[in-house]
Amino acid sequence: MHVILLFLVSATLACSQSGSRKTSSHVRIYQSSTKATIQMDRIQKSDDEWRALLSDEVFRIARKKGTERAFTGAYWNHHASGTYVCRCCQTELFPSTTKYDSGSGWPSFYAPVAQSNVENHVDRSLPYETRTEITCARCGAHLGHVFEDGPKPTGLRYCVNSAALAFVPKK
Ligand SMILES: [Zn+2]
Repeated sequence: MHVILLFLVSATLACSQSGSRKTSSHVRIYQSSTKATIQMDRIQKSDDEWRALLSDEVFRIARKKGTERAFTGAYWNHHASGTYVCRCCQTELFPSTTKYDSGSGWPSFYAPVAQSNVENHVDRSLPYETRTEITCARCGAHLGHVFEDGPKPTGLRYCVNSAALAFVPKK
């Protein structure tokens, strides 16, 4: 009986939490192939569905807001021309033309492919610092954080986990 009650309470909490967030099932995503922003369905999968598609490391970082160790990811020291896309849903996220060496040990960009493709969220998970989390607009994958100590022209530093990205070389 207690177990059932607990389940009901947590289910109710989960509903109220998701209710307070943006729940639109559509999102506008920019595609460089057509240079157009088009309306697409958000991708929503359960943890089990994502776990079946992703490695343990990618699942931990992209779906559970983990962080890879600095200087260990595939892209912090990667300089090829192309586009970094979401590892989970292939949405275009960052062009190599806005990538720069921040010295942080994580891939760093001063701007995304398009503002619409990356969403910002207030992150109070650290007790001493309020940060801005960045996620993939289409599937909600945790990418990293954006800080205001980047180079011109934006002054922003999008600090991204390599594990949340895949790289598509320029043709
Ligand atoms: Zn995605």
